[in-house]
Amino acid sequence: MAQSPGEKPSILVQLDPDPQPSAFDGVVAVDAGVDHLFRHAGVQPEQVRDLVFGTIFTRGVDELNRTAIFVGGSRVADGEALLAQVLASFFGPMRVSVMMDANGANTTAAAAVISASRHLTLSGSSALVLAGTGPVGQRAARLLSAAGATVRVGSRDERRAASVCETIAADLGSAVLEPWAIDSTDAAARALDGVELVVAAGAAGVELLAESVWHEASTLRVAIDLNAVPPLGIAGLEVTDKAVERHGAVCYGAIGVGGTKMKIHKAAVRQLFTQNDLVLDVDSIYQLGQHLEDNGNG
Ligand code: NAP
Repeated sequence: MAQSPGEKPSILVQLDPDPQPSAFDGVVAVDAGVDHLFRHAGVQPEQVRDLVFGTIFTRGVDELNRTAIFVGGSRVADGEALLAQVLASFFGPMRVSVMMDANGANTTAAAAVISASRHLTLSGSSALVLAGTGPVGQRAARLLSAAGATVRVGSRDERRAASVCETIAADLGSAVLEPWAIDSTDAAARALDGVELVVAAGAAGVELLAESVWHEASTLRVAIDLNAVPPLGIAGLEVTDKAVERHGAVCYGAIGVGGTKMKIHKAAVRQLFTQNDLVLDVDSIYQLGQHLEDNGNG
């Protein structure tokens, strides 16, 4: 992190609900240029206030942009609870910038949608998010919807998909989202009908789309699979695919999306130190990713 003469070194306070703080998040922070990393593991919501007070009462208000908080860990719901406590602990000018990327959910969803936008005008497009009920799928559906796509949210359980659609629509206002129950190959084929973009956001090691189904999908232009663990979510893709054309669709596998995700993650950590009042969650992380993309750094 660039440190001007007389400026305090940058400190990133990593709050992680897991028993061990994420090594991945620590490495990215160092690679982003953070001078000092304070790693706190097993953090419970009721412990957050004192940790935040430790970050905001130590440096002058005009130096608080040199301290920031990163909320990570493997469970996104726990990360969201910690973020809520962090934000509730700030008052007036006594705040530092904070980024939430538990389980990589925000950076991964942002990278997937940005990858799709290289090949498709999202506004007015028709997208299907398979397993759109998990943390990554929900975020991908939200970002696509906010970009003006009509989004089908797939799940084995239509009620779970409907609940995701309602939450996103309530948040965004004018979103067009449809819940789809997908529990068979036939149902997957019906859900793909008329769709230009499919994002598979299923659990690791679960195939969601058979090769024969998407090969027959005549409108499909972009296929993105975020599952890196075999069997992949979309059969017939390679995990390393990055804009590889297969059967008329441009394909990305999880590793193919991963480079963009890493760039967004590092840029977001650096952005934390530009001011002391940023909250980098899914929408702002996506905007940052778009900015990188527009400037040829995606
Ligand atoms: P998740 O919560 O583990 O699972 C997402 C959804 O998958 C669930 O809501 C569920 O939807 C469906 N699912 C679970 N088990 C299933 C099964 N046996 N059969 C069919 N569907 C099943 O996933 P996530 O945390 O959102 O992550 C999504 C994917 O992104 C994962 O593959 C993860 O490994 C990957 N990921 C990649 C990166 C990266 O850097 N490349 C970062 C983060 C995550 P329903 O119950 O509603 O059907």
